[in-house]
Amino acid sequence: MNKHIKISRRGFLQVGTSAAAIAGAVASTRLAAMEQTLGGQDYSSVTGKERSSVPYTCLACNIEDGGIAYIEKGRVVKLEGNMDHPNTRGKLCAKGNSGFLHIYDPDRIMTPLKRTGKRGEGKWTRISYDEATSLLADKLRAVITRAKDENKPEILNEIFFKYGRDRTGGAVGRFMHAMGSNSTINHTNICEASKKVGLEPAWGPDIESCDWANTKYILNFGSNILEAAYFMNPNSQRLVDGRVNNRAKLVTFDVRLSNSAGYSDEWFAPYPGTDAAIVLAMCNVIMNEGLYDADFIRDWTNVTPEQLIEHLKQYTPEFAEEESGM
Ligand code: SF4
Repeated sequence: MNKHIKISRRGFLQVGTSAAAIAGAVASTRLAAMEQTLGGQDYSSVTGKERSSVPYTCLACNIEDGGIAYIEKGRVVKLEGNMDHPNTRGKLCAKGNSGFLHIYDPDRIMTPLKRTGKRGEGKWTRISYDEATSLLADKLRAVITRAKDENKPEILNEIFFKYGRDRTGGAVGRFMHAMGSNSTINHTNICEASKKVGLEPAWGPDIESCDWANTKYILNFGSNILEAAYFMNPNSQRLVDGRVNNRAKLVTFDVRLSNSAGYSDEWFAPYPGTDAAIVLAMCNVIMNEGLYDADFIRDWTNVTPEQLIEHLKQYTPEFAEEESGM
């Protein structure tokens, strides 16, 4: 048999492409099958024995993805996404994967600490929870008594609650209402507060849930959604679904070449803080060229198309170019 089969360049490429496609299909089928089969199971790399597993909720950020914790000799040794969780679909982000390191961190604070030195001196001593709650009760009582004695309810605002994330199902808010104070601050104040303020009046919920998987065109202004955006894990997975399965086009405006910008079909780098000028100019063109859905504007907004056209007149493409460099 002639081992030297003659093959044209075109034929070689066709065979190569088909082989790669078959290999890819087999690999992805195997991978999916392995994930399906082994999801929720893991084995010790030393003994080969199956590790016990416990479903848990990741609290490494406020998305609260579902995961599986694997335990060996009484210690959590590995985390992975829970295949049955609709958000993670079996995948955690890098931070979530390393979440179990918090448990065994030698610097983890396990008891209340009471400051024993001057403010800023960094001197603390460990106290029990009983001691801590008694101390707090004394201080709260003193403020409440003073507010009553002086008949000044505003004094109650001296009761100030600073917390990271409220995992209490609203108990923090109810406690502060009971105290008569509205002085609270949490991490959201310096995190996604501006986004919440923008989204709530626009369409209600403070968390957008775009139909990434079924869209054809994604205009992304400044979001690094594949790495760090709010609800990054579920959203980035579905964005990739849309890109791969639905051939969605991704266009990103970002001042820097983030990983999301790098993954985009097109990347534009406007001057910092000028995205809104570009959006307004786009709206101007859409309205002027009659590319809008008049019924949608009438049914779902509190302006008419005519009012919108008038308002957007000032935001010409030339204006946007001057502002953004785009
Ligand atoms: S995004 Fe990452 S850190 Fe946040 S809940 Fe999900 S896995 Fe945990």
